Amino acid sequence: RTLAGLDAELIRCRACPRLVEWREETARAKRPAYRDWEYWGRPVPGFGPSDASLAITGLAPAAHGGNRTGRMFTGDRAGDLLYATLYELGLASRPTVTGPGDGLELYGVRVTSPVHCPPPANRPTPGERDTCRPWLAREFELLRPTVRSVVVLGGFGWQAALAALERAGRQVPKPRPVFGHGVRTTLAPADGAGDPLTVFGCYHVSQRNVFTGRLTAAMFREVLAEAARTAGL
Ligand code: SF4
Repeated sequence: RTLAGLDAELIRCRACPRLVEWREETARAKRPAYRDWEYWGRPVPGFGPSDASLAITGLAPAAHGGNRTGRMFTGDRAGDLLYATLYELGLASRPTVTGPGDGLELYGVRVTSPVHCPPPANRPTPGERDTCRPWLAREFELLRPTVRSVVVLGGFGWQAALAALERAGRQVPKPRPVFGHGVRTTLAPADGAGDPLTVFGCYHVSQRNVFTGRLTAAMFREVLAEAARTAGL
């Protein structure tokens, strides 16, 4: 199996009735500013090369962001700081993104999510989070030969990513490490074969966190730069 094959399968998933309805309903109704867009309206796959050494995971795509453009963190404000910082660090081909056709390439970085469909009010239920977990776990399994660092944005994503990593064959300490900005934990492979992987906690790049100053550009750059260094980028 390849990541491209996994993505092709993922975009047909209809396992969560509430999220399927929401993604399709928002794609039909559209936001007035985007009425000329053909919304994606399907599960949003991870974006970036299949031999990435750094993975970044958030929570779920936004109804008028990823659900519109079909690409993670693209089309909503959360992506502004993410891609601008990746560009600054030499990990992206451009600082701003609009959607497919903008020429964005990521270098050694894969951006993904523990929930692949937009939830109402940006809140998936625990059941939806659990239903979607195997997709992220399989993505981590496929990235296993190369991935060395994972940056997890936000506390909800932290729990979900650790659970997916455990399912993907990583040893996660018990009790699970608690989320915090700047927290890091190193996970050995459960079968003892291969390299350890370091998980970094980071406040989410949400518009709210950036607007209130909870997460500044410097704070975000610091975590990403350290994760990239750890990944050998
Ligand atoms: Fe499938 Fe995940 Fe979307 Fe649920 S959230 S429908 S499991 S892709």
